[in-house]
Amino acid sequence: MSKFPYFEYHNTKLCVESVPLDRIFREYDTPCYVYSRSALIAAFKEFDSAFAERDHLICYAVKANSSLAILNLFAKIGSGFDIVSGGELQRVLKAGGDPKKIVFSGVGKSADEMRAALIANILCFNVESEVELGTLNQIASEMGKIAPVSLRVNPDVDARTHPYISTGLKENKFGIPFVEAEKLYTSSKNLTNIRIIGLDFHIGSQLTELAPFTEACKKMIGLLDHLEEESFQIEHLDLGGGLGIRYFEENPPSAQSYVEALCSDIGHRSQRILIEPGRSLVGNAGLLLTRVEYLKHTDHRDFAIVDAAMNDLIRPALYDAYHEILPVNINDNKIKNYQIVGPVCETGDFLGHDRKLALVKGDLLAVMSAGAYGMSMSSNYNSRPRAAEIMVDGDQTHLIRERESLEQLIFNERTLPL
Ligand SMILES: *Cc1c(COP(=O)(O)O)cnc(C)c1O
Repeated sequence: MSKFPYFEYHNTKLCVESVPLDRIFREYDTPCYVYSRSALIAAFKEFDSAFAERDHLICYAVKANSSLAILNLFAKIGSGFDIVSGGELQRVLKAGGDPKKIVFSGVGKSADEMRAALIANILCFNVESEVELGTLNQIASEMGKIAPVSLRVNPDVDARTHPYISTGLKENKFGIPFVEAEKLYTSSKNLTNIRIIGLDFHIGSQLTELAPFTEACKKMIGLLDHLEEESFQIEHLDLGGGLGIRYFEENPPSAQSYVEALCSDIGHRSQRILIEPGRSLVGNAGLLLTRVEYLKHTDHRDFAIVDAAMNDLIRPALYDAYHEILPVNINDNKIKNYQIVGPVCETGDFLGHDRKLALVKGDLLAVMSAGAYGMSMSSNYNSRPRAAEIMVDGDQTHLIRERESLEQLIFNERTLPL
């Protein structure tokens, strides 16, 4: 009945694997994020097996969901990691990730973050500008280290996604402009503590077509050929992340057809292939469980005020994103057209508009496809403690993050002495 594998109705109850969500509510309360361990593994395996015999490394983009239990699960099944901060580096190491499988992306790496990554001996820095390359060279030289580097090239292709998450156009802040990339590669030969090992791009997120990926890939291969003529030893090609998922009616390519299309563009070249999927590994492996606090009827609208809000899941408020909202227990009450809103004092605090649901106070709702950019973008706005997170494995549930306490919320704060 449900279009989300691992999240199916059994009789009238929505379950995660074989655990009914109302049981999770009784054990852990709401709001909470609930993940399916099998769904996470299946998503990873789909990418992994699509590479077949080709030398590859999947570097899970940590920012999509940086919970330690999820990082640890991916580490155990062989994943690498794409990080964008020193905090993410620390999380990956703490979760048992292999430093030799870490790539470090981001336009604003600080000197401290570079040092930490050099100490950890990560696989590669994805460098986004000439000044960053100079800084990294300087820091590596002070530490007596050689920094392994890919330049993140901006291939100037239109990813045709939401403007906030499109990164591969020349007007974006990301990467080195395609026309300048070769020159910078060449001049990097003068930097004594930089070793060029790769070529990298990442054009955006929630892409639902293959064409922008293959267009970017073809441009990069052209650049690769030039670099090899200049006798660069390019060991890997990093194709970034960005494959979309189905939130509503999108029909993104499968991980398998995505990988196969890129591999066929790359052809017989010997380079190892890296990809950095985030959303497509975790997005449809998690949901946000919430409870209806109040039903409020006005002349114009029917509101269901729930106990999760924009601080828990900001995607609707930030991108006007759509998330399917399913009843946890199906009943025969009267169906109405509800605005599903949170308690936060902002009109933008909604989880869904115009949802046809049969609700009574206390009902549980599942906000689907919330595994990516849900918990990791959550905040304490309105002094709301962060939600709990639960991982389901078969018929077992594991609390992987306790609900934040009010003490923790104010722990770092001080009032003035007088
Ligand atoms: C965010 C990001 C990713 C992951 O993007 P998804 O759309 O979640 O797959 C990969 N690489 C870089 C450099 C990123 O910034």
